[in-house]
Amino acid sequence: MSECIFCRIVEGTLPAQVVKRTPDAVAFHDLNPQAPVHVLVIPTTHIPSVATAIEARGKAAVAQAVALAAEVARDLGLEADGYRMVTNVGEYGGQSVSHFHIHLLGGRRMTWPPG
Ligand code: 5GP
Ligand code: ZN
Repeated sequence: MSECIFCRIVEGTLPAQVVKRTPDAVAFHDLNPQAPVHVLVIPTTHIPSVATAIEARGKAAVAQAVALAAEVARDLGLEADGYRMVTNVGEYGGQSVSHFHIHLLGGRRMTWPPG
């Protein structure tokens, strides 16, 4: 069994409320939602963060996750009012899980700048 919690969600050994899945990416509800809609979208392959988009393998994984996040935003009816996609990198970015993930946030007006 993988030690990475998001790899375990991909494997199905850790339960999650899955919204949509493709062979390359999985979208599921965040355990601690920060907005009426808070979905995490991850690639099925383990890459640590968006920083790996510099490499070919990471580039594909990031693109597939972004595409699924946009699809889920459309499916959940977020397009009309808008939404936010965020990805945190490292300590200063506030990343707590080292498996690249996109936060898809919607259902309320977002503030700027972020905290
Ligand atoms: P980060 O802080 O790395 O940008 O985001 C990690 C996110 O994963 C957090 O929003 C946190 O609530 C969520 N999270 C952590 N553990 C789990 C889990 O086991 N299941 C789900 N669905 N979300 C989780
Ligand atoms: Zn992982």
